[in-house]
Amino acid sequence: MSENPKLCPCISGLSYSACCQPLHDGKLTASSAEQLMCSRYSAFYLGNIAYLISTLHPNVRQKDDKQTLAQTIEQTQWLGLKIINHKPSAKTATVEFIAFYQDNPIGQLHEQSRFIQEDEQWYYTDGDILEPIKLSRNEACFCGSGKKLKRCHML
Ligand SMILES: [Zn+2]
Ligand SMILES: [Zn+2]
Repeated sequence: MSENPKLCPCISGLSYSACCQPLHDGKLTASSAEQLMCSRYSAFYLGNIAYLISTLHPNVRQKDDKQTLAQTIEQTQWLGLKIINHKPSAKTATVEFIAFYQDNPIGQLHEQSRFIQEDEQWYYTDGDILEPIKLSRNEACFCGSGKKLKRCHML
């Protein structure tokens, strides 16, 4: 976890200030469910619990969200993000992604997430956890290093 990351944790290749920061700071709202999803990943990475709760649909918020999120953030070292697909429709969308985290072997949170748009604001509602996928050792590493997986996080 880095205090002042130059590059956005969501692996967009953009700087944090040109990517997720304006969303985290409340200066912009996500223009798509995919953008919201990426900004939520960055918020997990940076430990921004307030943002994670504000982007959770009010109907699915729980009393202990803050505690649960703090625990996840405490216990997880996120390594990278890979968006598999984004299926938008009028006011709902699904985004399938894999968030990678430090474990042995490397852990995958592979999820198909559901989003709802209300009052021009996208919210995360819930998701289905999917099986980890097999990665090709020759594909670009999920951490955004630009190296092949076999020369980076899959040594
Ligand atoms: Zn970002
Ligand atoms: Zn890597």
